[in-house]
Amino acid sequence: NKQVVLRDYVTGFPKESDMNIVEGTIILKVPEGSNDVLLKNLYLSCDPYMRLLMAKDRSFGDGSFTLASPLKGYGVSQVLESGRPDYKKGDLVWGITKWEEYSLVPSSLIHFKIEHTDVPLSYYTGILGMPGMTAYAGFFEVGSPKKGDTVFVSAASGAVGQLVGQFAKLTGCYVVGSAGSKEKVDLLKNKLGFDEAFNYKEEPDLNAALKRYFPEGIDIYFENVGGKTLDAVLPNMKFHGRIPVCGMISQYNLTQFDGVTNLANLIFKRVKMEGFIATDFYHLYPKFLEFVLPHIREGKVVYVEDIAEGLEKGPAALVGLYTGRNVGKQVVVVTHK
Ligand code: NDP
Repeated sequence: NKQVVLRDYVTGFPKESDMNIVEGTIILKVPEGSNDVLLKNLYLSCDPYMRLLMAKDRSFGDGSFTLASPLKGYGVSQVLESGRPDYKKGDLVWGITKWEEYSLVPSSLIHFKIEHTDVPLSYYTGILGMPGMTAYAGFFEVGSPKKGDTVFVSAASGAVGQLVGQFAKLTGCYVVGSAGSKEKVDLLKNKLGFDEAFNYKEEPDLNAALKRYFPEGIDIYFENVGGKTLDAVLPNMKFHGRIPVCGMISQYNLTQFDGVTNLANLIFKRVKMEGFIATDFYHLYPKFLEFVLPHIREGKVVYVEDIAEGLEKGPAALVGLYTGRNVGKQVVVVTHK
């Protein structure tokens, strides 16, 4: 049972060497009387929040990872044996599993049974999984978009951002994305349907860049990165603008968060800035599938994935999120079904 385990708690940027690949014990059976589920893991999801769990003493989510134990995170798995009658051998599921080939997990960690298999199964780590629900809930429920709104998305080519942009276009909005390379900017404009995109690393003055793309201001800023980007956005918000605060990846490796100096614009401009967590919206998952599946099947919503083949590629794939190495949703293949 090959595993990716945390070697030591992380400060600063995570490195591949913070994790080890080890051979763990093979789990053969669900213990008698438990409602655990024995899973064969197929696809694992690299998600930015995982860095927060690699630090010691984080009171975020379930708390920090345990040293010398497999990382935990989202994944797509097949049920091998189940202590709960509603999960049967052979069922495909997505939810929280461990970074190893086979996992025994409490059935409460499984979020959903996978019913639609005419789309790539790996999509359940991305567009049809947690990042998809994040984009959907954050944009529609928190962002309250209207046709004609001007929308800015940071980390726009990533797992969440690429969907926010496409959902904004489906709503009839004008949407601009920022990303960290020319390849990503081209992807945003040529494949993902953004009206405009720019490389924030090549903009000496983010405020001036935003003025260029939003001469009338921004109605919705979908916040994925925090720090300097947020500070530049605030004075460029329109009256009654909305800022769904999804994430702040530029801050996760810092010991002290960057100061944001322009917050008073929230008052003058009557802007609503609201943090949210995708899991609070999982009751909307059936409605989300009804909305997004036809769009995927008709090619009206596309999804870019970055696939790392093999569990041993997991550490490099995960740390790559914090340097922008991934192009699209970063997935680790444990085994294809
Ligand atoms: P991505 O697929 O977008 O991968 C992370 C990307 O972030 C990188 O590719 C990189 O792109 C960008 N990035 C990394 N470091 C920096 C930096 N210092 N400054 C600016 N950009 C940076 O990740 P996700 O789409 O999965 O996640 C996006 C955000 O959404 C994260 O903040 C995450 O924590 C948050 N999130 C929140 C959820 C919630 O429930 N609230 C759920 C899921 C995600 P680039 O090359 O463009 O810099």
